[in-house]
Amino acid sequence: YNAVGILTSGGDSSGMNPAIRSIVRAALNSGVKQVFGVRRGYQGLVSDDITLMSSRSVTNIVQKGGTVLKSARCPEFSDPSVRDVAARNLSSRGIEALVVIGGDGSLTGAHILCQEHGIPVIGLPGTIDNDIPGTDDTIGFDTAVNTAVEAIDRIRDTARSHERLFLVEVMGRNSGFIATQVGIACGAEMVVVPEYAFDFHDLCITLAERHSKGQGSSGIIVVAEGRDPDLTHRLAAQLKAQGQDPKISILGHIQRGGSPSGHDRMLASCLGTAAVEYLLAGYSDIMVGVHKGAIVDVPLQRVIEEKKVLDRKLFDIAALLHK
Ligand code: ATP
Repeated sequence: YNAVGILTSGGDSSGMNPAIRSIVRAALNSGVKQVFGVRRGYQGLVSDDITLMSSRSVTNIVQKGGTVLKSARCPEFSDPSVRDVAARNLSSRGIEALVVIGGDGSLTGAHILCQEHGIPVIGLPGTIDNDIPGTDDTIGFDTAVNTAVEAIDRIRDTARSHERLFLVEVMGRNSGFIATQVGIACGAEMVVVPEYAFDFHDLCITLAERHSKGQGSSGIIVVAEGRDPDLTHRLAAQLKAQGQDPKISILGHIQRGGSPSGHDRMLASCLGTAAVEYLLAGYSDIMVGVHKGAIVDVPLQRVIEEKKVLDRKLFDIAALLHK
């Protein structure tokens, strides 16, 4: 290829910057003549907000959160006539292929662009939610888990000092990957996720048992944000009706940013390099991910159609270990 483009799209995640850096440098060091950065995801592709990148332009970003290319949601990209504009902008600059870093929505956009306009695309899983099929891990997940764990450790100090029950809501869209890992790592008394049934009665029994054993009424319940935005507040109301006095803490956007963990920097650097290797080997319409420690390529069609399942075993471990 003479020229390839990179964009970051959807929710930002820590590790997008090391991914950008590795794609730029791997491409330029492998003979690609020009690498272009598209700003604000698909929005920049449509508005032609595209800049030339160099090895120097990605200096000193490996440790930075967010994305230097900026990210955006661009709902108009579902419109074929808008995608025509994007394809024209790419071809007018001689950009022959595109690497897209983002979540399932962003990878869907990449797949459609490839199918419709024959533009070679490679996707990288970039989301804190870890909800992308075909890869065990996504760029930003580890950092988000670490951030939430650190925050909950602090909340735990207050919970114990004041013998209080805390409901801590973590991110994860419609999945419970963050909640489950955070729950295990923090020794949460309970984890509530969209994937598996939650027994409120069981929670009340657990809390009563803890109380009778003299363990006080302190505790942490980790709740995945899920599909129901009121779940955490409803749970708090139900617990109040049972005589508890729970506090709510919604961690929110602190989970998305921050300096990427060593793990996420490694993952992003390896996946970014692999994306260039696959592209130069003639692959397209795939995502590069990791499975059992090895880099794998997954057809974007499969990424879009499948749903990643939260390991029941992990969820059971969270439930088993708090007693
Ligand atoms: P995150 O998981 O962090 O939220 P995401 O990539 O899933 O990231 P979305 O908002 O779902 O975030 O998608 C990002 C962008 O991808 C959308 O704003 C849109 O530009 C593009 N996109 C999503 N779905 C489609 C689609 N069906 N067709 C074309 N483009 C799409």
